[in-house]
Amino acid sequence: METDFNETPREYCGVMAVAGHSEAAKLAYLGLYALQHRGQESAGIVSSDGGNFYSQKGAGCVSDVFNRDVLDSLPGSIAIGHVRYSTTGSSTAENSQPIHVKYKGGRLAIAHNGNLTNSAQLKSELESRGAIFLTNTDSELLLHLIAHSPSNDFEEALYSSLIRLKGSYSIVLMRDNILYAMRDPRGFRPLCFGKLNGATIFASESCALDIIGAQLLRELKPGEIIKIDGDKISHNLPFAPSEQSFCVFEYIYFCRPDSIVEGKSVYDIRHRLVEHPAEADVVIAVPDSSNPAAIGFSKQSAIPFNHGMIRSHYVGRTFIQPSQQIRDFGARVKYNAVRGLLAGKRVVVVDDSIVRGTTSRQIVTMLRNAGAREIHFRSSAPPWVNPCYYGIDTPSEKELIANSNSVDEIRQFIGADTLGYISIEGLHRVMPRMLTYCNACFDGKYPGGKPNSIRKDFLEL
Ligand code: SF4
Repeated sequence: METDFNETPREYCGVMAVAGHSEAAKLAYLGLYALQHRGQESAGIVSSDGGNFYSQKGAGCVSDVFNRDVLDSLPGSIAIGHVRYSTTGSSTAENSQPIHVKYKGGRLAIAHNGNLTNSAQLKSELESRGAIFLTNTDSELLLHLIAHSPSNDFEEALYSSLIRLKGSYSIVLMRDNILYAMRDPRGFRPLCFGKLNGATIFASESCALDIIGAQLLRELKPGEIIKIDGDKISHNLPFAPSEQSFCVFEYIYFCRPDSIVEGKSVYDIRHRLVEHPAEADVVIAVPDSSNPAAIGFSKQSAIPFNHGMIRSHYVGRTFIQPSQQIRDFGARVKYNAVRGLLAGKRVVVVDDSIVRGTTSRQIVTMLRNAGAREIHFRSSAPPWVNPCYYGIDTPSEKELIANSNSVDEIRQFIGADTLGYISIEGLHRVMPRMLTYCNACFDGKYPGGKPNSIRKDFLEL
């Protein structure tokens, strides 16, 4: 039996692209390592030497899919890459990206981070026109829309297809030996670019540029399309302007803390996601993603920070329960408490979110078993009350503990002495001012209106 013991919401994907470098696929491979936190269930790269596309993709982490021989089989000066998270049970190999096709206008390959909220409607329409889908990812829709376009001009076909997409997308797209990178008009998901000598690099996060020594230039603007054709780089903003809806959770949890997003350090922001002081002897984090917020709490409160929980880095997202009788391993498979640091102490424990509440409860139990005298649980995200439709895997409303329980009821459920969430106002005091945000999972205000439903079978990015 498989148990998903880590209830933290998960990002669906990371994308990477390199244009103008003789070892494009190898740079993309290195960049995907830095983006591995955005998806660990499949990885892939498609490269182009101008005449042909070369592809390698499959289930697992980057290290499972690529080795030296495989990388040597991916020639060409442009390449796109992808790491993907999928829900348990889906066909990981079939849905891995980049997706590449040959059609009347040439060869196309796409890698996508995000989720299209009108995918069901577009898919039905395209199927009625004879389209046969190779995957159940909505990323494939853009390829079909381009192929079905009446225009023979590629960019006209691309723009008229993009206008039909609703929801979130940060996309890198290769057409023969031309690379396009684009972001949806609301800019939900990050996508930045930089330079490495003469080459142009695109990545979901700047940590992927750092790993190859590229210089970060900036994020793509919402709705911006950048085209790299040989030495020529051009920019276009073909959409009517709309208010940005950058996913606030990218700063709270998804991005790596060493990334710079919109000119701001993710670590620095996370470090300030602190509210609800407590009288305590020690501050600890649920490692690793909560470390910056816990260190920030410690600094603000002058209570020492210590590593009171240790995380095993060798446990995957799910693990096989060894038997029904000893099923309730829960969080202990991934975390253990350091008894010597916690026994007899009043402990503040900081986590980045509380989703169903079951993991938080297991953590509190673990800390009590390690001798903690008081446990003050702090969340660096506000109460999570609504599901996400824009590319994050979240449970249904019914499963979200804050959807139908008060803070005190949640405190009782998890067994803490006190519980404090950062407020939405507190969150926005810390967020960079030059952006506007999507907070729909906290306040229910879905940008552009609430989508009809999440189609799990068509949400596998
Ligand atoms: S609903 Fe939440 S997780 Fe989804 S895009 Fe908006 S802020 Fe991000």
